[in-house]
Amino acid sequence: MTKANPSPESVLDRQCEQRSEPGYLAAVLASPTHKVMFFHRGKALLSGSEVGYFDPAGLPAALPAGTVPVYLGKVLAGHGHPLRAGTDIVLQVLPYDAGDLTWLPGGVEFAGYRDAARQLSVGDAQTFVVAQAISNWHGTHTNCPRCGSPTEAQFSGWMRRCVQDGSEHFPRTDPAVIVAIVGADERILLANNFQWEENRYSTVAGFVEAGESAEEAAVREIQEEVGVHMHALEYSSSQAWPFPRSLMLGFIGYTTDVAATPDNVEVRAARWFGREELQAAVLSGEAIISHRLSIARSLIEHWYGGPILEPGDNA
Ligand SMILES: [Zn+2]
Repeated sequence: MTKANPSPESVLDRQCEQRSEPGYLAAVLASPTHKVMFFHRGKALLSGSEVGYFDPAGLPAALPAGTVPVYLGKVLAGHGHPLRAGTDIVLQVLPYDAGDLTWLPGGVEFAGYRDAARQLSVGDAQTFVVAQAISNWHGTHTNCPRCGSPTEAQFSGWMRRCVQDGSEHFPRTDPAVIVAIVGADERILLANNFQWEENRYSTVAGFVEAGESAEEAAVREIQEEVGVHMHALEYSSSQAWPFPRSLMLGFIGYTTDVAATPDNVEVRAARWFGREELQAAVLSGEAIISHRLSIARSLIEHWYGGPILEPGDNA
């Protein structure tokens, strides 16, 4: 079996204990060696085809009012991060109405994760995802869910406290399940969604509901969307998917059912593929599968037993 997750280890040490101490972020911001990353309206500032990490010396002393600094972590050695090990990264989440941004370092542009991901290194991709998740949360949790008063960022940007009642609010993550369905003959059942091209196939996914286990959600979603009953499930791996705040829990599911029934609401078609059949269909362009940074692809390749070649790959 191949490794189901392309990057099982973190590229950043989040310094979870230290970052909640008063003054921690201020000390990092005062050091000349930290690097700064920017997010604005859900997009990261890039530098060419990489995430832009900027020297504090090249930035204005004061950033736009409402900018939220967040300590992302210290780069760990040996995981392919483009920055030197030990470097502290601070994310600056610019407010929606940040005004004129021409002061930002030149030759750079903001990009969304879906557009940027294919060209990013594993280290950059993981850092982007952390920044995306925390900036999404700051953007939508400016007010207290209890009393509506403003909240302010604390714990180096990892908690928001209500200025009125003092309640503490932490970043939220919504669990979702994603399942590669394997039949008794070892074929995989992939689905085509109405929102996609007609020849795109992927694994089936859905949100975990309140009071439901991940396993219950997986069985329910598969039954609902492709009409197949699973009798066994094996957890494989997970992937943070902060659009806006999901955590995808990946499973391999086993069924003895042969007939699949698309729900005709989300799923247009469901099709069984043998291993050689899927590889041939992808190479010929008859079928398109999810890209290599996705957990869907990891699950499919976990079943396949190795990388699936695409047109243009060197065989
Ligand atoms: Zn409150």
